[in-house]
Amino acid sequence: MSENENKVALITGASRGIGKACAIELAKAGYDVAISYAGNDEAANKTVNELKELGVNAKSYKFNVADKEACQKAVEEILADFKKVDVLVNNAGITRDGLFMRMNSENWEAVINTNLNSAFYMTNSIIKTMVKQRYGCIINMSSIVGIMGNAGQANYASAKAGLIGLTKSLAKELGSRNIRVNAIAPGFIQTDMTKDLDVEKIAEHIPLKRLGQPEDIAKAVKFLAEDGLYVTGQVLGVDGGLVV
Ligand code: NAP
Repeated sequence: MSENENKVALITGASRGIGKACAIELAKAGYDVAISYAGNDEAANKTVNELKELGVNAKSYKFNVADKEACQKAVEEILADFKKVDVLVNNAGITRDGLFMRMNSENWEAVINTNLNSAFYMTNSIIKTMVKQRYGCIINMSSIVGIMGNAGQANYASAKAGLIGLTKSLAKELGSRNIRVNAIAPGFIQTDMTKDLDVEKIAEHIPLKRLGQPEDIAKAVKFLAEDGLYVTGQVLGVDGGLVV
């Protein structure tokens, strides 16, 4: 394997929204970027082009993060293409909201598989490489809902709380290998995921009086990747003051 001079970031669910902003922020910091997505080819191609315009190497990979074998295969492909992965952002996620009394197994499992099991599949596929290179930064995209709970989101809150447990445990296991593992807990961020919410009404309840932008999360990702070298096992709230 030849050396790759640039650092490499792998970000799941980065065709749009928070993941895309993270990809752009890390590309601006000089990272080559592998982005994953589920099905939106047009958005993924657009993001890759925007990344390349920043002068870095970028490529998209279409696979379902809820599928263990697909994750393993994609990581193999990404390692063949980029030679290493320094930063893994487990970001891809979905919602299937509904009150618990009416929540069926399908919606429970879809959210647990896509939002939590995916982080196991991706991290499990990449971890030996990070141990070997004696460097790694893993960032799990949790949510304030994983800390506070939320009516109508028992599946989502469980997955996001699970990511926090995973983060803290892996930080303890992997610290001696110079691999840092942190979580980010965004509040309400304006993306496709939140497009149907009443922005003005929600903003009234946020101390900073506005919803977050994807770039607000991307800056936290860049901090954890580049500057927070003594930070591991933490859950960084980026929520305008909602959870204090
Ligand atoms: P988004 O705009 O809906 O984008 C979701 C991204 O994930 C897209 O790139 C999508 O790919 C990808 N994706 C979805 N299911 C996937 C699957 N099964 N396999 C592979 N990729 C998949 O979401 P977002 O608002 O940016 O959220 C990103 C993360 O932040 C999620 O984990 C979310 O739970 C978390 N978060 C968001 C908020 C918020 O307010 N927005 C708050 C807290 C936490 P396609 O484009 O191909 O569909």
